[in-house]
Amino acid sequence: MLSEFREKAPVGAEELSVSFEFFPPREGLSAEPLMNAAQLLSQSHPAFLSVTYGAGGSTRERTIEIAKELVHKTNSPIAGHLTCVGASREEVDAVARTYWENGVRHIVALRGDAPEGSGGFVPHPEGYRNAADLVRGLKNIAPFEISVAAYPEVHPEAVSAEADLDNLKAKVDAGATRAITQFFFEPETFLRFRDRVAAHGINVDLVPGILPVGNIAQAMKFAKACGTKVPAWLQDLFEGLDDHPRARSLVTTTVASAMCKMLKKSDVKSFHFYTLNRSEASFALCRLLGCRFY
Ligand SMILES: Cc1cc2nc3c(=O)[nH]c(=O)nc-3n(C[C@H](O)[C@H](O)[C@H](O)COP(=O)(O)OP(=O)(O)OC[C@H]3O[C@@H](n4cnc5c(N)ncnc54)[C@H](O)[C@@H]3O)c2cc1C
Repeated sequence: MLSEFREKAPVGAEELSVSFEFFPPREGLSAEPLMNAAQLLSQSHPAFLSVTYGAGGSTRERTIEIAKELVHKTNSPIAGHLTCVGASREEVDAVARTYWENGVRHIVALRGDAPEGSGGFVPHPEGYRNAADLVRGLKNIAPFEISVAAYPEVHPEAVSAEADLDNLKAKVDAGATRAITQFFFEPETFLRFRDRVAAHGINVDLVPGILPVGNIAQAMKFAKACGTKVPAWLQDLFEGLDDHPRARSLVTTTVASAMCKMLKKSDVKSFHFYTLNRSEASFALCRLLGCRFY
C-alpha cells in the first residue's frame, strides 16, 4: 500500500531519535541558511544539533559562535565538536569550558586530522594524544554528554579492524555514551559493523551517520578522504544528472530513504544526518521515516 511511504511508529513503540550536523560557514558568509535549516529541523525534536570544528581547529571561534546562536535560536540540545589538532590541553579545555558556560552540554570528541600534506597526525607536545585521551580530559571538566566517531569501513590510519574496535572501546571506557559512524552507502556495512561492535563487548549507542548524497562528485571526494566505498550502482544512478539538480535531489531522497528504512527494519532507532547546512533532504527523510514535526 502506498500509505506505507509515511511510516508510523506503532502505538507504544519507542520513537525514532534523530540528530543533525552542520558546519560553520566560511568567513564572510552568512549563517542565515544554516540557522533556517536548524530551526526547521528542530521541529522534529532532535536528540541534538551539532556543529563541526574545522580541520586543524580552523573554525574554533565560528564553531563556538554558531553553537551559542543555536542555543538561543532553537529549543534543541546543542553539541559542539572538538578536536585535539594543533592545540595544547589548556587551549582545548578552554573551548570545552566556553561550551559549558554557554549551555552546550554535549561534545562530539574527536582527534581530528593533520593539515593536508603535513604527513599525518602528530599530537601537540602539550596536547591530547587521541580522542580517547580527549574524552578522559573532558570528563574532568564538566559532566558533558560525550559522543565519538566510529568507522564501519575502518579508519584509514588503523593498523587493523580489530585495533580500530579496541580504540572505539577505549573511547567508550573513557566515558563516551554514543558513537556516530562515518557515512556509508550500503545498509549491510552498518549492520555488520554493529555486530562486530557488540561481539567486541562495546556497549554504546551506535548511530549511523547518513549523508544524503546530492552531488556525487563531492561525495566521492569526501569518501576518498575517509575510506568509504562508493558503490558503482550509486555512481551509475547519478550519471548524466549534472545539469538536473531537481532530478538529483529526487534520486538522493529515494536512495537515502530506502537505506534508512532498511536500517529501521533492522531495529536501528537513531539516525544522525550530515545536512551540509541544507534542510530539504534531511527534512524529507525524517518525514518518510515517520518522525513527527511540531
Ligand atoms: C561523526 C564524525 C564527526 C566528525 N567531526 C569532525 C569535526 O568536527 N572536525 C574534524 O576536524 N574532524 C571531524 N571528523 C573526522 C575525524 O576527526 C577524523 O576521522 C580523524 O582522522 C579521526 O578522529 P577520531 O576521533 O576518530 O580519532 P581516534 O579515535 O583518536 O582514532 C584515530 C586513529 O588512530 C588510531 N588510534 C587512536 N589511538 C590509538 C592508539 N593509542 N594506538 C594505536 N592507534 C590508535 C585509531 O584506530 C584510528 O585509526 C568527524 C568524523 C566523524 C565520524
